[in-house]
Amino acid sequence: MRDALRRRSARHRAWLEVEAWGYPHLSARGRWEPPKGADGEVLPGVYRFQVRGVVQDKARYVDGGRTHAVEHPNSLDGPLNLSSLSFHARLTLLSVDFLDASKNPVSTLKVGKWENAFNAGPTVKDNFIDLDPDRFYVRVNDQSKKRTGKVSVKLSTDSTGTDYDDDATEIERNEEPANSGIFISTNMLMVSDDVDDDFTNPNVVADDTKNDRTHKIALGGKVKVQYPETGTVICEEEANVPPSLKAIDVNVIILRDKSAATGGVPVIAVATVSNFWNIAKERYAQVGVDIQWTGPTVEDPPAGVDLSDWLQVLDTSTSTVLSAEAKTLISAVGTANTTADIHVFYVNRIAVGSSFAGGLAVADFYFDESDDPFAYNMFINSSTSSPWGGYAAAHELTHLTTDAGHPTADTWRLMHGAVLTTTGAAGSRRLTASEETTIRGNSHVH
Ligand SMILES: [Zn+2]
Repeated sequence: MRDALRRRSARHRAWLEVEAWGYPHLSARGRWEPPKGADGEVLPGVYRFQVRGVVQDKARYVDGGRTHAVEHPNSLDGPLNLSSLSFHARLTLLSVDFLDASKNPVSTLKVGKWENAFNAGPTVKDNFIDLDPDRFYVRVNDQSKKRTGKVSVKLSTDSTGTDYDDDATEIERNEEPANSGIFISTNMLMVSDDVDDDFTNPNVVADDTKNDRTHKIALGGKVKVQYPETGTVICEEEANVPPSLKAIDVNVIILRDKSAATGGVPVIAVATVSNFWNIAKERYAQVGVDIQWTGPTVEDPPAGVDLSDWLQVLDTSTSTVLSAEAKTLISAVGTANTTADIHVFYVNRIAVGSSFAGGLAVADFYFDESDDPFAYNMFINSSTSSPWGGYAAAHELTHLTTDAGHPTADTWRLMHGAVLTTTGAAGSRRLTASEETTIRGNSHVH
């Protein structure tokens, strides 16, 4: 006797109901709740019941308000014993759960920041997923597969649109502990772009092949596991990414090199800039903050802004006061005298004294108090280098959201101070846990 009792969610209440009757005076009805583990999960197993006076019996399993038949033993033959009769029912409870790094069940997952992932070089450590606090596992509990050693699930993701949907991938789970009917995957990591999704090393197989450990998603998406991997799905579970979604609004403006009326053209293409801000969104997925950018709108340089000699943002390389030209641009094309909104201006080239910068953010910590009304603006040059332009967008925004400069020389970090590198997974892409806390606490993040 074996019953595959489908259990949709591990969080439903569940119990076994036993009813028995025979001679009217011996009818019995009882309700019994299976034992639960420390995490509140029903512990599957074979349970033994004593039912008095059984002539006929029936048992049913009630899960979250739904009732399932439980096949009772058909061995109730032999002489009728009115004093007691025992039978046991095999409850096969199926569940699929997401587990966090400590192997506790969770209903939400985070995009990993690849914390602790890098050796000097930098290179990605072979065991980087094992070291990431945002890693996760999938657990299958199927007592009918006890002692089989292995089961497989199908893992896929679904985000708005299709760009971030990760194909269903077979993930094998090993029985842990041995012969327990409980199967736990190796640890895995949610990632936000193709560079991380396609990453391989001796411990990480090619994208979407069996037991792939990195899975792509966009913020607001869901991770789904289905069990079993082939045939009819009898159990599935979803996790939302991230645990607590926040957002930040950015207005994107591209200047023409001179007025349209005098033959001016945008310093950089709208499509290029749009792609850069999508890359910036991928970077901010690490901190659970959705960059909601609007634009890009294309504008003429306003009166007082002459891009033929670049945009002079600082008059000297050590100045902590914005130039008159930069203030004119912010006031005319952005919003004057408020730090409530964020603008980014694409110009042909940013002059700082007699040298140049790729980007510059008007972060309060750096600029003189007299410039406070101009904070929460940034300038980026017209380089079309990709993904540099996307990293630069996220980098300059982070000067604003952390109100800080360059805390590191580690080139794998987004906020290091030299030229941002774009070399694969070890490029200048990562935010840290402490930056996450600061960014999520910024007044512009809602
Ligand atoms: Zn910087």
